[in-house]
Amino acid sequence: MDLKQSETIKNLLIQGNKVMIVVMKNGASPGEIAETVKRIKALGLKAHVIEGTERTVVAAIGEKREEMKEALESGDGVEEVMPILAPYKVASLEVKPEPTVVTAGSLSVGGKALGIIGGPCSVESEEQIMNSARVVKAAGGTALRGGAFKPRTSPYSFQGMKEEGLKLLAAARDETGLAVVTEVLATDDVDLVANYADVLQIGARNMQNYRLLEAVGNTDRAVLLKRGASATMDEFLLAAEYILNEGNPNVMLCERGIRTFESHTRFTLPLASVTYLHHKTHLPVVIDPSHGTGHAYMVPDMAVAAVAAGADGLIIEMHPNPPEAMSDGYQSLTPEQFDQTLARCKTVAGAIGKSL
Ligand code: PEP
Ligand code: MN
Repeated sequence: MDLKQSETIKNLLIQGNKVMIVVMKNGASPGEIAETVKRIKALGLKAHVIEGTERTVVAAIGEKREEMKEALESGDGVEEVMPILAPYKVASLEVKPEPTVVTAGSLSVGGKALGIIGGPCSVESEEQIMNSARVVKAAGGTALRGGAFKPRTSPYSFQGMKEEGLKLLAAARDETGLAVVTEVLATDDVDLVANYADVLQIGARNMQNYRLLEAVGNTDRAVLLKRGASATMDEFLLAAEYILNEGNPNVMLCERGIRTFESHTRFTLPLASVTYLHHKTHLPVVIDPSHGTGHAYMVPDMAVAAVAAGADGLIIEMHPNPPEAMSDGYQSLTPEQFDQTLARCKTVAGAIGKSL
């Protein structure tokens, strides 16, 4: 199918239609196409002929039944019949076969160059975030992370510097040119955070906060959507769908580990998610080896492995002084470790035809 055809199918799907695609053979005659349309109508479905540069496809629209596929496939000039099965429609590769490249300021994720987001879990002070930004920049990172609104398990833990933290992130961007990635916790805060951030992070705890997903979908900011700790891949992709459906195409999917019976790591980091997601969606995939392991000593190897697995980007926690961190210090790299990790990632990226 060519791009124009997939765009037409996408439009049909966005309108809420159930669609089955009848792909005609290259060079199918007008008579065979007309016959296919007749067969589709006889099954009680609507037919929509979509001409292409190479071949014609006919969208069969309506409630489909199992036997319809066979009935249509036996028609003269028919190459194959593809039911659109993915429950996520706009995120699906069936609808957009070429990868999406998300760009937000200095950050680009989804192309040949890896997007590397580094920085502390939380913004803590001007000195801390400025130092972090300089380290990220010098090491070859392409964006700065730092939470100003923190989703903490305990209400007694540090909750973030809020707007003051956002201002510090913006100042760090002014100095270094690094795009700012920061979490938005609540629908009410979306406008405020979008005022300062280049990328809005939706945290794992909020992956299924549908009103929040819609709200970020209505901004012109890129979104880093983290996988919920117990979300299935379908749930993850459908969450992305909420954002895309509001008209925001700039969504990055972030695998940050899931909860399993295992306790040697904070979460279990499935790197197979990279391959699976690339098989199902055109959206770029970012790996978070920091939350995915919960131990600083494991982060470098998992970062390198993620690059080898084909991840489009990484988000890594780095703190100028991890033992003093107000959140997630135990999984934060020191500046030196961060620098060394990126150097290793660069070597692997080069070996698989990518750059950093
Ligand atoms: C974070 O990035 O610091 C964070 C809270 O991430 P997650 O939502 O993946 O736990
Ligand atoms: Mn964190």
